[in-house]
Amino acid sequence: MSLTGIRRGETPEGLASYKMLIDNEWVDARSGACFVSINPVTGEPLAEAPLAGAEDVEAAVLAARRAFEEGPWPETTPAERARLLRSVGQLIEERADDLARTQVLENGKLFRETQPQTKMLADFCYYYAGLAESFGGETVPISVPNVINYTVREPIGVVAAITPWNSPLGLLMWKLCPALATGNTVVIKPSEVTPVATLELAGMFVEAGYPSGVVNVVTGEGETGAALVAHPQVDKVAFTGSTATGKAIAKSAADHLARVSLELGGKSPNIVFADTDLDNAVNGVVAGVFGATGQSCMAGSRVLVEDGIYDAFAAKLVEKAKTIRLGDPLDPETEMGTVAFKGQYDKVLSYVEIGKKEGAKLLYGGEPPDDPTLGKGLYVLPTVFGDVDNEMRIAREEIFGPVVCLIRFSDEEDAARIANDTDFGLAAGVWTDNVARAHRMIGRLRAGTVWVNTYRKTNYATPFGGFKQSGMGRENGIEVMREYTEVKSVWINTGAPIADPFNPRA
Ligand code: NAD
Repeated sequence: MSLTGIRRGETPEGLASYKMLIDNEWVDARSGACFVSINPVTGEPLAEAPLAGAEDVEAAVLAARRAFEEGPWPETTPAERARLLRSVGQLIEERADDLARTQVLENGKLFRETQPQTKMLADFCYYYAGLAESFGGETVPISVPNVINYTVREPIGVVAAITPWNSPLGLLMWKLCPALATGNTVVIKPSEVTPVATLELAGMFVEAGYPSGVVNVVTGEGETGAALVAHPQVDKVAFTGSTATGKAIAKSAADHLARVSLELGGKSPNIVFADTDLDNAVNGVVAGVFGATGQSCMAGSRVLVEDGIYDAFAAKLVEKAKTIRLGDPLDPETEMGTVAFKGQYDKVLSYVEIGKKEGAKLLYGGEPPDDPTLGKGLYVLPTVFGDVDNEMRIAREEIFGPVVCLIRFSDEEDAARIANDTDFGLAAGVWTDNVARAHRMIGRLRAGTVWVNTYRKTNYATPFGGFKQSGMGRENGIEVMREYTEVKSVWINTGAPIADPFNPRA
């Protein structure tokens, strides 16, 4: 298998070797250090990328600062910014299959999910191109005589965009599109697990004609990200990742009061009422927690089931889990790929042990599949725990793998109480045929997204983000344009002389 490799050389051992992007130049780390990403299906090294140190971060941030203040970018009109985004959209449309394949090689997510998601990134570009030309300030109906007051939306400055490994392309575009549509410049720090897909995508921004310094990428580990967040010339940090890292970032950014938006973890409840179509709900629950091998921030990992149907539901879910086809994520027939890297694989299996010790009933899975054709791939069977108490660690902590906890509830009030009894608040699902009940539950659930009779749907036009420790701020939709702009209030005197210099109200 070969990578698309637009920036590639090769190491003497034949490994694809990438450079990172600073000021529209493809460069190595100044120290010469590299790290290697591993294909989770074969266990083989996939590519090497520069391990950026503080001096590389400094160079990238200063390039972004220069581009924000000098040169063509600050003068770019909304129409020109829209045109650039549309050009990137066209390149993505042409190369979506290659980009998707690269991401699959890095993180083991299914091609059949990654390919349409990647193709849709072109639509992100087109949507934000439209917003670049239409989103602005407003005239304020102000109660002060002889003045006109209006607001202007201006870019914040240098944005640090830090992304995780589970959906590196999509989660990057959630940040890049609105940041560039509003005139900011960006330094990207992708996950150390998935640097290549990001570098390939960044190359398209250069190719589309973005001026030097507007889009930069520093590759590296957590320390590279920490140096970026701590840099005093970074004006905003847009982060997606774990809640623990999000808290560290918020603290560090506070030192120089950089704006922060955080898209963090979850432990989302997916609530199944007795009045729903059981087979349909089983499919919805499977999509919610076993899709993307459970490595999804919005995974419906706590499934709350009404008492009367609990046993029947658990039996049907186990039957369904047994049929899930594990295999090569590039194969269109595969239904569940690998866990993305060894550390995550060990973490998932350690939570299975924790669940067993806590007294939850392992109904299916909890171990690697016994299938020699899967080789060294980091596969874990879809895992179902029954009789879970919401106080157990497996119900409170994000596992980020194919592990579902079944929890009983008695009525709507009980369901809402258990659903909200968590530090997180990213998403929730409700399965019911009763429209009034659905609306009552929507009102009660403390989560940034509520799905009714569906799950794991997102779109560029609708806001996404978390309540409580699932984050702050929103991505997508018009909402996110506010996250990348400062508001300036403008006052214009329409002719009244300054009657009393010591009373601004006169
Ligand atoms: P992570 O927090 O370990 O890492 C995310 C990124 O932050 C990586 O690029 C990493 O190198 C970098 N990083 C690590 N330490 C840092 C520090 N101190 N300062 C700055 N950057 C640092 O998360 P992960 O394991 O890559 O991703 C999984 C997590 O992401 C899960 O918790 C998942 O729920 C969350 N996630 C959230 C959303 C959302 O939209 N809410 C979407 C996808 C994933």
